[in-house]
Amino acid sequence: MYVMILGAPGSGKGTQGKILAGHLGIPQVSTGDLLRAAVKAGTPLGVEAKGYMDQGLLVPDAVILGLIREILASPTAAKGVLMDGFPRTVAQAEAVDRLLKDHQQRVDHVAVLDVDEAELVQRLLGRAAKEGRSDDNLQSIQQRLKVYHDQTQPLIAYYDRQGVVRRVPGMGDVDAIQTRLRKAVAA
Ligand code: ADP
Repeated sequence: MYVMILGAPGSGKGTQGKILAGHLGIPQVSTGDLLRAAVKAGTPLGVEAKGYMDQGLLVPDAVILGLIREILASPTAAKGVLMDGFPRTVAQAEAVDRLLKDHQQRVDHVAVLDVDEAELVQRLLGRAAKEGRSDDNLQSIQQRLKVYHDQTQPLIAYYDRQGVVRRVPGMGDVDAIQTRLRKAVAA
């Protein structure tokens, strides 16, 4: 089963994705987490990605697609993957469709977490205070919201044409949202 969680920064993709992946028994792949680990380890990938991430810009598609290609070719991904934070551009979505097709697979569900913009900013500023992520400052947050709107939201229409979009209200407590998500991907 191949599931994508789509949502703005601060929508809870990572939190909800982790719980849902455990429930579905498939690995969670977060491109954001993979990139942050690469930055921390100082690998060439991390060095290239850091500047984009700190500014709230997307890391180039070619870099991300190299990562995804590797993941989909690994045995742990054979039964499926839950991806959060990927895809983020139409080019990424088209590329993953082609890769999955090579493995006789397709995207089963795209869960879209809907959260009001005012709440997103609140959550991200709260997270900045707690976790100290270098991209959780107001300037980068505003840039990431703009990038989501301009480059990632068009994916909803792209996946709508495949009939796989499941919209999930992302406000309220974590458990209630998780219950909605599970229903959405069981349908
Ligand atoms: P958030 O959704 O809160 O911005 P993420 O961890 O998903 O958090 O992403 C953090 C940053 O990592 C993004 O702003 C971007 O620079 C980079 N990134 C993560 N996933 C992708 C992707 N699929 N394509 C391009 N850049 C990505």
